[in-house]
Amino acid sequence: MPQATSKLNAFPVFMRVEGEAVAIVGGGQEALAKARLIGQSSAVLRIITDAAEAELLAFIAANGAIHIAAAYDAAHLEGAVMVFAASGDEALDRRVAEDARRLGIPVNAVDRPDLCDFFTPALVNRAPVAIAVGTEGAGPVLAQMLRGKIDRMLSPSLGPLASLAASLRGAERLLPKGNARRRFWSDFFGGAPARAMEAGQLSQAHDAAVDLLLSNAPSSGHIALVGAGPGAEDLLTLRAHRLLMEADVIVHDALVPEAIVAMGRRDAERLPVGKRKGCHTKSQAEINALLIELGRDGKRVVRLKSGDPLVFGRAGEEMAALRDAGIAYEVVPGVTAAFAAAADFELPLTLRGVSSSMVFTTGHDLKGNSLPDWAKLAISGATVAVYMGRSVAAEVAGRLIEAGLSPDTAVAVVENASLANRRRFHGTLADLPSLEVRADLAGPVMTIIGDAVAGANFERSEPLAAHRHEGAAQTAAEGAKR
Ligand code: SAH
Repeated sequence: MPQATSKLNAFPVFMRVEGEAVAIVGGGQEALAKARLIGQSSAVLRIITDAAEAELLAFIAANGAIHIAAAYDAAHLEGAVMVFAASGDEALDRRVAEDARRLGIPVNAVDRPDLCDFFTPALVNRAPVAIAVGTEGAGPVLAQMLRGKIDRMLSPSLGPLASLAASLRGAERLLPKGNARRRFWSDFFGGAPARAMEAGQLSQAHDAAVDLLLSNAPSSGHIALVGAGPGAEDLLTLRAHRLLMEADVIVHDALVPEAIVAMGRRDAERLPVGKRKGCHTKSQAEINALLIELGRDGKRVVRLKSGDPLVFGRAGEEMAALRDAGIAYEVVPGVTAAFAAAADFELPLTLRGVSSSMVFTTGHDLKGNSLPDWAKLAISGATVAVYMGRSVAAEVAGRLIEAGLSPDTAVAVVENASLANRRRFHGTLADLPSLEVRADLAGPVMTIIGDAVAGANFERSEPLAAHRHEGAAQTAAEGAKR
């Protein structure tokens, strides 16, 4: 059982190494690995070996390290602030460790925890920010896994942002101590300066920071229109995840699964605004007004939409409203449902010699008298992805057939694309109307139509037609009852 009071046997510290010598004894892969690690710092590397492998020699040349090409001698360690015994030779490493200790220099011996004064961490480097992961030598694989996780969470621009912060530490005296300063730094690291740095605009970041410092006004809000992807948690982009972790408020649609909404900052306010049967739904105008209000309150808002925010997400209206209100926003793309459904079916959306264009449509515009342009594209071979197409399945099939598309054209349907409970159906355009009468599909449904669909993998899919007769019989029975 893990104890709540477990004590660390190795305590993490950050050691000054700028311009100091760090000695590494060894000429092989172990020495190279340590040289690479310490090479991330401004220490002067001193590599002691008379048997350097080619790769290490190349590293020494490329990084301006000092190479003492001689058999090891204790005198080589003098003046170093750290020593690595990395020769791969147990007796030599032991000798190096003993010499270092006698000279009062902390030593690390590769793969010999018993000889180590310190351990090297798995390192997330966003200089000047460093995150060191240690496991007291017990689990290097665990340390690397944690390193990877933390690395993905942090923006690559964190380093330059922290450097900018360091350069402003003197100017912070313009603000009274306490709350005002804390708020300034929180706005600095989470607001406009951070966003400018993220976009690679150093001078704008600086100006935004100065504005924050001088204005004393509450920071301006920001809305990120973020694509949550089709539903699977790991189809969220890293940027979407980072913004969720930084958000004050998450405004989400009903189609975004709870698990993804939960990935946001723990204490972020969560506001569902989407259409869910039986629940109160906000109108688009009310959502626009809410976003503007949150922006004016200085909140960092993630407006989370399923799939990609710019595909049938009404982002156009929200962006126009935000622009009119003068509220800053950005758009973060997501994996749209059509792509997730295609992946689930191993379905090539474009297929050499078969289909070279693709249509994203709802099918709802088929109700009019004239055939919409996309129908003509479908007839000339485009792959058609139909969003929100369940209730208009018969209409879509009928109009396309009427317009000249063969009833035998292949159709793939995915319910709950990307999720564990997804269901796949395949058939032809003639089978498509059965979709409307199926009572067993409760999740979102994506329909893909076109000759390229024939290139999909139907191994794990059910025939769409199996339901046609049943559906037709049901409809007929209902008709008879009336
Ligand atoms: N912006 C979203 C689409 C929103 S419209 C996107 O880019 O995906 C909602 C429609 O998207 C649903 O009616 C359905 O047709 C489709 N959809 C969304 N998620 C889906 C999923 N996991 N599986 C199948 N279709 C999905």
